[in-house]
Amino acid sequence: MGLDAYVVCRCWEEGRSSAPPIEVRRGAEGIEPAGPDLPPETLLAFDRWKASACEHGDMDIASARIGNWPGVRTFQDALAHLDPGTYGTLAGVMPRANGGTVSPALAAACLRALDRFALEGPVLEQFVLLDAATGGIVNRAVARYGGVFHHNGRDHVRAGIDRDSGFFIDTDDGVRVFEATRFGQRVNPSDPAPREVTLVSDRGHRYVGTVSFALEDIGGERCYPSTLRTGVRSLDAAHFAPIVDGLRTVFRAAVEIDRPVHWA
Ligand SMILES: [Zn+2]
Repeated sequence: MGLDAYVVCRCWEEGRSSAPPIEVRRGAEGIEPAGPDLPPETLLAFDRWKASACEHGDMDIASARIGNWPGVRTFQDALAHLDPGTYGTLAGVMPRANGGTVSPALAAACLRALDRFALEGPVLEQFVLLDAATGGIVNRAVARYGGVFHHNGRDHVRAGIDRDSGFFIDTDDGVRVFEATRFGQRVNPSDPAPREVTLVSDRGHRYVGTVSFALEDIGGERCYPSTLRTGVRSLDAAHFAPIVDGLRTVFRAAVEIDRPVHWA
């Protein structure tokens, strides 16, 4: 799950694609069948044609992975904390869900904003859950999700970090059942999943359930820190380089061929 983006080439409109097997048109998501309710074999023939109709795979002149949703949300958090005069347009085009487009004119403005962004130093403070012994990051809070980074469907609770409470566990109904800035974790690693976990705050409050917090070690083994604490880390613009690179790829293509960016 995450955000992708692409720009559809102009080959079909400009007569540089092979002839489609059925009548097609340019629709909201690119080149699509012109008629409704087509049988599956016709749609399959269309898909086959589109995959190799021109020199661009699937008729995308450019496409890019932008990021997973928590990463994209964190990028949006960073933009929201910067000067709206410089970054308001970019913040405005970043989507909340898959779908929608960005016009070439807005893409040009966003490219200028991304050039400025790359020169920024620290752009966001992020709350993190750390292994108290090593300082290793166990989880990162995403402000746009209310600081929540973990949802446990078995216990019907969500866990996260916010400025006022530190680490918290709330039920899905919004009742707070645990909060701490530093807490112990007891997991029996030989338990079959779901493992019973006891969290104990440094004020003696206790949560017993299946909510656990682990670091992945090099061998892929899960390592459960015995003491965790909350912390703050400063993210600079370089942290978002993969997102910025993906955006640049599609915004540039949109400007070059004067066609919108599609979010997917
Ligand atoms: Zn093409």
